[in-house]
Amino acid sequence: MPDAGERLNVVVVGGGTAGWMTAAALAKLLPTRCNVHLVESEAIGIVGVGEATLPHIRAFNERLGIPEPEFMSRTRATFKLGIEFRHWGARGDSYIHPFGTFGTGQGEVDFHQYWLRCVHEGVPVLPLQELSTACTIARLNRFALPAADPARLDSTFAYAYQFDANRFAPYLRALAEGLGAKRTEGRIVDVHRNGETGDIEWVQLEDGQRIEGDLFVDCSGFVSLLIGRALGEPFQDWSKWLPCDRAVALPCRTETAVTPYTSAIAMDWGWRWRIPLQHRTGNGYVYSSAFVDDDTVTRALTEAIEGEPIAQPRILRFLAGRRERSWVNNCVAIGLAAGFLEPLESTSIYLIQQAITALLELFPERKISPLDRDEFNRIVDLEYDRVRDFLILHYHATTRSDTPFWDYVRTMEIPDSLAEKMELFRRRGRIVKYREGAFLDASWIAVYLGQRVMPQGHDPRADVPPVDQLARGINALHGEIRAVVERMPDHVAHIARYCPMAEAA
Ligand SMILES: Cc1cc2nc3c(=O)[nH]c(=O)nc-3n(C[C@H](O)[C@H](O)[C@H](O)COP(=O)(O)OP(=O)(O)OC[C@H]3O[C@@H](n4cnc5c(N)ncnc54)[C@H](O)[C@@H]3O)c2cc1C
Repeated sequence: MPDAGERLNVVVVGGGTAGWMTAAALAKLLPTRCNVHLVESEAIGIVGVGEATLPHIRAFNERLGIPEPEFMSRTRATFKLGIEFRHWGARGDSYIHPFGTFGTGQGEVDFHQYWLRCVHEGVPVLPLQELSTACTIARLNRFALPAADPARLDSTFAYAYQFDANRFAPYLRALAEGLGAKRTEGRIVDVHRNGETGDIEWVQLEDGQRIEGDLFVDCSGFVSLLIGRALGEPFQDWSKWLPCDRAVALPCRTETAVTPYTSAIAMDWGWRWRIPLQHRTGNGYVYSSAFVDDDTVTRALTEAIEGEPIAQPRILRFLAGRRERSWVNNCVAIGLAAGFLEPLESTSIYLIQQAITALLELFPERKISPLDRDEFNRIVDLEYDRVRDFLILHYHATTRSDTPFWDYVRTMEIPDSLAEKMELFRRRGRIVKYREGAFLDASWIAVYLGQRVMPQGHDPRADVPPVDQLARGINALHGEIRAVVERMPDHVAHIARYCPMAEAA
């Protein structure tokens, strides 16, 4: 290890989304602490799916100084206000998980508690979905950037992007190389470890070249070249709760609306995504190979998509879970090398981002401190565990029993951590509070209610205002939201003005 003040040589293994996000962030935000050297193999290639994101990505881009219109134009991105779930609670159901609050976000207790009180007392109120600005913008297919003034209704939503994953890594590569990151092309065939400490000392390429480093970031994808293969860190398999282990991807021409939201449509053996970009629509069917074969799923997806396919169907295999530790010795795993949770809530890029943020904050000084390493692992584990519970909720909270797949997930045992959360919600609509994390209250509320988990009681503080007054206020809010949203431009019109796709990019 170098002396304090000297730069660490960081070797990033892999040039997919995880690798180039890491390289760009280190080069931009720790220019005096490290030299960044990325190794990738074009012959191996990248996963290249991963089109839907969470609003947190905007903070990442801002920290890197990425201008939003240019980024969206180059990655042919559209806006995303949430995810529409169809047929999840029961066939025919539809709800949106919005990026934003229900109601105005003001009051002594959470808005949904007042709403629950009206429902419990039989006073007619509109569905909660109608009381969300994000849901209303999405359903009316509009878009405008949120207002900065927190008193305004059009400040109560956030947004993310739907973009072409194959254009994101090259965009970040140009940025990282511009900031001084070095790139080497080649296939790694050997990983050399110090016999005493177990630290990685160098990786060796097919042509014999050795690349030495102080810190190695494993962004090698599902193969998990360093942390999995070389260091042998065990994998925690979560497939008993998240049994989907394959996806078939099939992009097509867009024939219907370019919606400002992603759709997750429950199917017989899993679910399919629809993600509209500026130039095409991404589709994929996520399923469990224990219940159905690839051909059946490919046929079902081909029949379901809205337009002419523009590529051959592509099958991807995966396993839900994560490495027990993401940082072991001098190796930090980020991205698919660290773990995978299916794309139902578009969380992979978010998890990459959180790991990068933790690495920046805990970046080693003179030598790696076990305390920093343990703290990094604690943060990453927590993020994975919370996302895991949220995903399981979507499957478990269903009334569907129409196929063996749905019957299994409906009746399966769930982690205690999720069982407790569900019980708290069932009793009095309480959401387990986190100070931070991917999914805050509105997300859990949307999925619980959208999937027919209805609380039996509510927060006693919601009993204070007169119920008729509450109901009048709640129902009037719907009209106010609509009036605001109807003044917003059409989603496509906003894109055409703000970030039309760059043809040659
Ligand atoms: C079906 C599916 C749908 C998804 N949808 C979403 C989504 O909507 N939203 C989201 O956020 N995420 C999504 N993801 C996840 C997302 O695709 C990944 O998290 C993201 O692309 C990061 O991948 P990665 O960089 O870790 O790995 P990869 O893209 O696989 O990159 C691995 C890199 O390692 C290199 N490499 C591997 N072995 C070697 C070697 N021996 N020598 C040299 N280089 C090597 C490769 O060349 C490549 O550059 C989805 C994933 C799947 C499977």
